[in-house]
Amino acid sequence: MIDLRSDTLTRPTPAMRRAMADAEVGDDVWGEDPTVRELEEETAGLLGKEAALYVPSGHMANQLGLYVSVRSGEEVWAHEHHHLIGNEQGATVVLARAFPRLYSEGIFPTDELLESWIAGRDDVHRAEPALVWLENTFTGRVVPLPEQRRVTGFAHRHGLRAHLDGARLWNASTALEATPAEVAEGFDTVSVCFSKGLGAPVGSALAGDADSVSRARRGRKLLGGGMRQAGVIAAGALYALRHHRERMVEDHERAAELARMINEMSGLTALARTNMVLVQAPGGQGSRYAEAFARHGVAGVGIGDAVRLVVHLEITDDDIDRAARGVAKAAADL
Ligand SMILES: *Cc1c(COP(=O)(O)O)cnc(C)c1O
Repeated sequence: MIDLRSDTLTRPTPAMRRAMADAEVGDDVWGEDPTVRELEEETAGLLGKEAALYVPSGHMANQLGLYVSVRSGEEVWAHEHHHLIGNEQGATVVLARAFPRLYSEGIFPTDELLESWIAGRDDVHRAEPALVWLENTFTGRVVPLPEQRRVTGFAHRHGLRAHLDGARLWNASTALEATPAEVAEGFDTVSVCFSKGLGAPVGSALAGDADSVSRARRGRKLLGGGMRQAGVIAAGALYALRHHRERMVEDHERAAELARMINEMSGLTALARTNMVLVQAPGGQGSRYAEAFARHGVAGVGIGDAVRLVVHLEITDDDIDRAARGVAKAAADL
């Protein structure tokens, strides 16, 4: 089986495991784990922010992004398909007690939408706007940096804060040929994952100014995310950050190649977006197509009108070849 369900499936490489085994550790709740500190400093530096906080998951990094910028009952502006809205069990309302104001078109809000949402802010019937949320990449799609700057500029002109869910910021940076700091520029807080395309086993970070990050550190403890000798896992993240960022371009090339081969061989329509390939399955047949692919040795995830295939560091050129052949065989049965 060629497993293309997700880039979270990557396992630590032998060299990464050695780095983890050799990690210097201490009690991180006491601020005494040197490896965690090194990871936090290096992450902050890469993202052009003052500080960063290592956390167990991207979910927690995002929730801490809310924790430091939104008070109970205030608005967060987001897309209905942002991870924050669809994939965090409603934590936005349960934990942060934030009120999501959602758009569903495009991958970033237009000026027209932003202007119309800010227009009624002083109306006593309205929740108060506090935070504008973006995601990059957004299900594999790259949000152009000028659009990000337009949105963060708008937020700051109106006294709102801006957060970037950058779980796959490393993919965005690779695709845009921009530094991670350029992608993170203009945001008050940014969350990044080490456990997706970078291939580390555990963890994410929230980066931002020193004050936001020190408040997030309190929030992490509130959520039960204070970790002790976390240097063991942080060493995996640090290794990934140093050694697996630049190779990401290979994942994007392989995804493009897989889409090209599927289009050529199967009669299906496939689209590559950074490290993801979306194979169209019209009429909500994503799950049915995914089952057919699996019968021919290709594991993907059926989502609505598409099957998502994700390329990551364990996927070789030979896997791409075999996956394309499997999809072509499956297409013949559909
Ligand atoms: C995966 C993901 C997260 C959450 O990461 P976990 O570590 O799985 O909690 C957040 N945002 C986006 C866009 C993601 O893809």
